[in-house]
Amino acid sequence: MKAEKGKTVVGFAGLGVMGQSMAGHILDAGYDLLVYNRTKEKAKNLIERGAVWKDDPRSLAEGSDVVITMVGYPADVEQVYLGKGGLLEGARPGAVLIDMTTSSPGLAVKIAEAARAKGVDVLDAPVSGGDRGAREATLSIMVGGDEKVFNDMAPLFNIMGKGIVLQGGPGSGQHTKMSNQIAIASGMMGVCEAVVYAKKAGLDPDRVLSSISAGAAGSWSLSNLAPRMLKGDFAPGFFVKHLIKDMKIALEEARAMGMETPGLARTLELYEELAALGYENDGTQALYRLYDK
Ligand code: NAP
Repeated sequence: MKAEKGKTVVGFAGLGVMGQSMAGHILDAGYDLLVYNRTKEKAKNLIERGAVWKDDPRSLAEGSDVVITMVGYPADVEQVYLGKGGLLEGARPGAVLIDMTTSSPGLAVKIAEAARAKGVDVLDAPVSGGDRGAREATLSIMVGGDEKVFNDMAPLFNIMGKGIVLQGGPGSGQHTKMSNQIAIASGMMGVCEAVVYAKKAGLDPDRVLSSISAGAAGSWSLSNLAPRMLKGDFAPGFFVKHLIKDMKIALEEARAMGMETPGLARTLELYEELAALGYENDGTQALYRLYDK
């Protein structure tokens, strides 16, 4: 079943920083949208714009051809898909369920297997590009699952993002996202150290950023997060607690492959120190707090 506006009913669960914008784009593109979130208040804006509220994942799936989820942690994904009153209880044969949460590759495989037994298709499709990518519909979307289902869902992915790539079978999207998070993690240490170094050398750090962001050191974090560090703007963005969750998944997967990841391990230690100081609900740029002393 190819996704098509006016025909395909889309359900969306998880209306936080990311899901709020992503669901809004689907509504704006002309799809009928059903919504569900743990805290109903967060659905208010979408309901005012025409979305229809559902009381639980099961009834969301019962009314939808495609359900997209963007919740927080693997435990939330497990509950929403496999728990009592979950999506798999309500999904009709032929329905497609797409998990865009950053979650564990093993859980993605488990869900795909449970869904197959019911004639339901599942894609794991985590994203990168941050709150800004979600707002501007420029997310990079990394997908695991069946190629035909991926092609059928392309119209929906194209509404939310730009670089949309099928990486392989179930779990491949999540493995790709872990690779992404490993690159981001150590990179955040580099960004903090570069900014503090520039300040201590007596330079104007904003002017330094204008040079180094445009050269070989350029990165999304340097362009988007270093300016927030310098302003003392630590609002999320991407929560510290969620990066810790991702680094723990990545570390576990790397260990299972017998792989050493010293950069990832050190970054996790620093973020755990930051969380212990009470900053787990800050954005990830708050790592700067540990360096700027
Ligand atoms: P968030 O603001 O915490 O949003 C998560 C939403 O899911 C919340 O509204 C939460 O409900 C809802 N939720 C959680 N568990 C639920 C459950 N069991 N049933 C129903 N709703 C549930 O987080 P976010 O920043 O949007 O991130 C969402 C996911 O995307 C995370 O896995 C994160 O790692 C990943 N991600 C985030 C970014 C980013 O820059 N923010 C970028 C890429 C990927 P409540 O409203 O009750 O809390």
